[in-house]
Amino acid sequence: MNEKLPYWTDPHTTSFKVFIKEVKKLKNQYQVHLRENVIRPAGGGQAGDKGVLTVGTLQVSIHDTVIDSGKVVLLTDCSIPEEREGQLDIDIEWRTSMMKNHTSEHIFVSTLKEKYPELKIGDLWIDGEHVNIELLNVNVSSEDLIVAERDVQRIINLDIPVQSQIVGVDKIDPSIRAREGLTAKHEKLRIVKVGDLDSSACSGIHVENTGQIWFFKVVDVKYTNGSTRIRFVTGSRAISLTKELYNTVLHRKHTYPFEMEQIGAVLDRAKAAIEDRFQMIEKISQLITTSGYVDKIGDVVFRHEYLQGFESINLKNLANQFSTSETSVLLLFAPGRKSQIIFRSFHTPNDANYYISSAVEKQGGKGGGSSDNFTGGFTNVENPEELYEILVSSVREALTQ
Ligand SMILES: [Zn+2]
Repeated sequence: MNEKLPYWTDPHTTSFKVFIKEVKKLKNQYQVHLRENVIRPAGGGQAGDKGVLTVGTLQVSIHDTVIDSGKVVLLTDCSIPEEREGQLDIDIEWRTSMMKNHTSEHIFVSTLKEKYPELKIGDLWIDGEHVNIELLNVNVSSEDLIVAERDVQRIINLDIPVQSQIVGVDKIDPSIRAREGLTAKHEKLRIVKVGDLDSSACSGIHVENTGQIWFFKVVDVKYTNGSTRIRFVTGSRAISLTKELYNTVLHRKHTYPFEMEQIGAVLDRAKAAIEDRFQMIEKISQLITTSGYVDKIGDVVFRHEYLQGFESINLKNLANQFSTSETSVLLLFAPGRKSQIIFRSFHTPNDANYYISSAVEKQGGKGGGSSDNFTGGFTNVENPEELYEILVSSVREALTQ
């Protein structure tokens, strides 16, 4: 393990004079191998450096850096001459963002380990945008996640130094967290310490003190097969995402008045309302299938329902949920000054239009649709019940013909 790699000793130096030893075309990209070992390749779940390589007046952008057959290679979209001196400029924004993300990952995992000692890291991806981490064997509750987020932020605010040192494998304390199987591959290891909080064997790049991270925010959590998958962001990216969300809510506050502190309760209520609505749709869907108003005209079953208090979107959901192997038609009517209808045909000899469109037009309504689905609407309806009866008898009539 080389102790003097520039991205470890001084990650903020990002301009280097380099010599381009070899350029190889591989599918639709180029692999550029430099004589100097100065750019950091992807590894241990952390993305590689990006940047720009300049030879004379030619500039090519480096979209990733990887290890290929034991060699560090830069991946570029364009070719660049071999055996030439050049200038390498590493994308410092991408790198520092990755340093913040990666160091946060150390802190976040060690914080969670106190509560969940059985926790193991599964898939891990860290780049200049975010961190995706899979925590095996644990279902981290949302309460614990909020506590962990707060603890990470507290450690960031304390501006704790992050230090690394290279030690022999035989000198390693068992409390040190091994990452990416380093112990198996190397005789010497780089140990990264965040104050007294966390010690990990790690080959990644880190900030010099936790204060440089600025801000930490969990943005997604998923539970699968007994594991927890979490996404988080840090630094200016976390700040702008949080701002954006807060401002969206602030803007809505004028449309739907509430205090910002009440947002949780408001969302809960909205969620309950949506659940209620789905339950109602479910219930009515069952009703229509099992009972409801059913006529049999010739070979065709005619179901029709007068649905007080339904909005057109729910009418649509309801109609879409209904399916049958019978030759049948379904008419759903939502009454009001503006009345809405949905008419669906199943396995009938004619299109839905055939049974309903002329009656809708005759009553001053508008509508249209595909072969088995007709949607219509009426405005300024004086007597919705009467309109419904007229439509029902028109459909009956069309079915007898
Ligand atoms: Zn690390």
